[in-house]
Amino acid sequence: MNASIDKVALVTGAARGIGLAAARRFLDEGWRVGLLDIDGPALRAVVAELGEDHRTLAIECDVSGRAGVAAAMEELVAKFGRIDALVNNAGVAVFKPLLETADDEWERVLAVNLTGPFLCTTAAAPIMAREGGGAIVNITSISGLRASTLRSAYGTSKAGLAHLTKQLAVELGEMGIRVNAVAPGPVDTAMAKAVHSPAIRADYHDAIPLNRYGREEELAEAIYFLCSDKSSYITGQVLAVDGGFEAAGIGLP
Ligand code: NAD
Repeated sequence: MNASIDKVALVTGAARGIGLAAARRFLDEGWRVGLLDIDGPALRAVVAELGEDHRTLAIECDVSGRAGVAAAMEELVAKFGRIDALVNNAGVAVFKPLLETADDEWERVLAVNLTGPFLCTTAAAPIMAREGGGAIVNITSISGLRASTLRSAYGTSKAGLAHLTKQLAVELGEMGIRVNAVAPGPVDTAMAKAVHSPAIRADYHDAIPLNRYGREEELAEAIYFLCSDKSSYITGQVLAVDGGFEAAGIGLP
């Protein structure tokens, strides 16, 4: 029997892109999965396609609000009874010069990308601890490791999330909860299509040692590894999955 069969993962931002690929990866391994997203119609369509059965649950929720996140966690536990892995993947990107970034854009990026993982983690950790522990993976970005133009809000939110990852690893370790981050390089999702101009695309291609964008499935593999028992002694790490971009040590386009 598959040892993962009773395990439960909650993936935020799971209606498409990297989050959906991660949800599929957990399902492939026999986990039960809560797919959470702010986009209800897209989420329900995806869950219908995955097979709306005892192993999936669609949860419509905005990760930036405490009440909604608490209700989402209750829904998850009511259906599955536990949570073993939390993937804080939901995110939004605004690529703009700092001086053109409006207050509400700044606040939204911080609210979704940084406060969201804080709220989901504080809701999930006590439930994980009750069952002896678990794993949390935060999806940061190479934009949180390297400063560059256009990314003051987005990069700051992701750098904050990388540091929060280390804080949480230290604070939650005694509860048996491991906390790591995956920092993707560019992946050709709806988000990248919206914010990567042709010039950015060409520059990335040249700057990345593997000379290509990452695939959603390649990110999902790293996320799954960091949630699985295969990484049982790894915590507090930020794993760049970026075709060598970070190692090359050059600035973002
Ligand atoms: P995407 O835009 O394709 O998908 C993001 C999902 O999050 C969407 O389904 C969206 O509806 C959902 N979402 C947005 N705001 C939400 C909220 N407030 N509450 C709940 N759900 C919300 O993006 P993606 O490219 O798959 O990105 C996933 C993560 O990876 C993000 O955190 C992103 O910052 C990060 N990332 C992406 C890239 C890339 O090149 N695609 C690179 C580095 C990091």
